[in-house]
Amino acid sequence: MQTDFLNTSIEFVKGVGPQRAAVLKSELGIYTVSDMLYHLPFRYIDRSKFYNINELNDDMPYVQLRGFVTLVKSFGDKRTSRLTAQFKDDTGTMDLVWFQGIKWLRDVVKAGTEYVVFGKPALFGKTFQIVHPEIETVEKFNSQPQGEFQAVYNTTEKCKSKGLDSKGILKIQRTILTNLPPALQETLPQHFVASMKLLPLRNAISNIHIPSDAALLNHARMRMKFEELFFLQLGILSDKAKRDEEHKGFNFSVIGNYFNGFYKGYLPFALTDAQKRVIKEIRQDCGTGKQMNRLLQGDVGSGKTIVALLSMLMALDNGFQSCLMAPTEILAQQHFNSITEMLKDFPVTVRLLTGSTKTKERREILEQLQAGTLHILIGTHALITNDVKFNKLGFVVIDEQHRFGVDQRAKLWMQGNIFPHVLVMTATPIPRTLAMTLYGDLEVSTINQLPPGRKPVKTIHQKEASRIKVFGFMRSEIAKGRQVYVVYPLIDESEKLDYANLMTGYDNIVRAFPLPNYRVSIVHGQLNAQAKDYEMNQFVKGVTQIMVATTVIEVGVNVPNASVMIIESAERFGLSQLHQLRGRVGRGADQSYCVLMTADKINPTAKHRIAAMVRSNDGFEISEMDLKLRGMGEIAGTQQSGNLQLKIADLTKDQQLLELARKTVIQILADDPLLARPEHYLFKKGIAKMRAPKIDYKKVG
Ligand code: ADP
Ligand code: MG
Repeated sequence: MQTDFLNTSIEFVKGVGPQRAAVLKSELGIYTVSDMLYHLPFRYIDRSKFYNINELNDDMPYVQLRGFVTLVKSFGDKRTSRLTAQFKDDTGTMDLVWFQGIKWLRDVVKAGTEYVVFGKPALFGKTFQIVHPEIETVEKFNSQPQGEFQAVYNTTEKCKSKGLDSKGILKIQRTILTNLPPALQETLPQHFVASMKLLPLRNAISNIHIPSDAALLNHARMRMKFEELFFLQLGILSDKAKRDEEHKGFNFSVIGNYFNGFYKGYLPFALTDAQKRVIKEIRQDCGTGKQMNRLLQGDVGSGKTIVALLSMLMALDNGFQSCLMAPTEILAQQHFNSITEMLKDFPVTVRLLTGSTKTKERREILEQLQAGTLHILIGTHALITNDVKFNKLGFVVIDEQHRFGVDQRAKLWMQGNIFPHVLVMTATPIPRTLAMTLYGDLEVSTINQLPPGRKPVKTIHQKEASRIKVFGFMRSEIAKGRQVYVVYPLIDESEKLDYANLMTGYDNIVRAFPLPNYRVSIVHGQLNAQAKDYEMNQFVKGVTQIMVATTVIEVGVNVPNASVMIIESAERFGLSQLHQLRGRVGRGADQSYCVLMTADKINPTAKHRIAAMVRSNDGFEISEMDLKLRGMGEIAGTQQSGNLQLKIADLTKDQQLLELARKTVIQILADDPLLARPEHYLFKKGIAKMRAPKIDYKKVG
């Protein structure tokens, strides 16, 4: 009976009808009564608060006004019509303007009548204007049942033209709520609702649309947020549980001579406690008989490579080959160099395969690989071409490419029907809330400690006016034998202006640092790979003292002698990018510096970013700050962002609730990983609903 009502087509709710129903479906994805109830308000207005016209300013969000319409004018023919009304209260006069729904409005808006008006004011010349305000007569306003808070809903122009503006939607909600049974079947486990003192569903739904008071509204919002996050986590983690059941993994049951021999005799330094802990986590995970999917995050320089190497030795102890994939040739080469260096007196065969490996060598590598005599293969994307076939691949390390999906990743290397273990490494710390959602299906290991003896990089903010001083500082560091990076923003490779800036900057530097005392390298995206490698190597070898570059040097290059990072137009970089760039220095024993050059005047958010960089060296702190400053969508980019179009919860603010939801879900899945129990049937429905395609409100306006 109750489910019948919830599943009723929205068309049959009083006051909707076929035409409006069609718009609700096509514009807002609302098909049923239940869809409508879950079309949650995105904000509330205080109904008791009226503004005066003389209080308005251009920055105000939505405001509510009361006054008389004194003059109504309509313009144009059918196609380009417009309706304006002069609106007046005791303090001033303003204009109301509509471009749509004119026919209907002509009957509603009358000179000499008192109205309540709601909308966002904007200054137009000397007069304030509200475009497409919501409007109703004071009489009607007063006749409606009213709480203090009135819900405001997302809607579209097309909806509005059918009378489905925010108030129109509220009216439908009101009708539905009057007909809603006094109790609704819980979507969440009853005992959680009780033990966590959540508002029961019926009560929450009712108060979210028509709040009785502020306290109940808060309660209702919390309950709906929790529900949303719960199903988000349940979706992610039940997929993972299912995968764990289905995907067998190789069982690394022994730790043998390769691991132990290297650990005891060849380790170049003592591991940090964090490194030890992470290796243990990997070891345990690979010994369960299930496939490991793990994200290893650790700030630049925290020592992820040795963790990867020891893991690969563990694979070897169990008779398996490994591979390590890096995003660029330079990085692959560096991994190859440091790993072969560490293994130079140790009987493990390691080779490098990239796009520029010569045919003969490539053939040799592929043969060794199939024969099983090659133990560790390092390379770029060249590793995932079709003819690269391993004899027995058991462990895959992916450096700095966490944006593959889990299945995508595993399939790249599937052998028969068993997936190799996958370790994804990143130096871009991911805020916890993101890690739990975007990467929620990965286990996460964190190296939260730098090797001993590192001096934190000193970060300084300098303005254009102090350029001479900065050049002087560069000279004094170079005189001590150090090297300097100067990085220019190049947000878009095709951006001509950015190149112009880079080249001008380069010219200025060459002029200020002339031969024969100074040599300057330059690297940017328009150089071919060979030229790039040449320039890079000149700097790595210390032939050049200054490297002028775009962000192509961002990821992974390691030049310990470089102690100064100058970032030009730093206000144009994102926080995590700034942090990555700063990570290029501070790799040797010397004190290192990062100088953030900005224009003399910068906007407030840029100021926050710069201040955060000067204050903190901690990648995790920086990433949390980044999330707060940029908001969710931008960080996630387009990648899997479907997951993140939440209706009510906000991952930048609701971290605690998310943690709680995740904990709850983990408890449930521990008992019933496949949600097979009858009482969990409803959960599956909740997950499906959570995954239904969402409307992108930014697009529909
Ligand atoms: P990242 O996490 O950025 O990949 P690397 O693995 O390249 O870091 O390590 C950075 C540097 O620190 C390397 O030169 C490496 O040899 C060194 N290193 C790593 N772990 C330790 C340690 N426990 N003690 C001393 N030096 C270490
Ligand atoms: Mg690295």
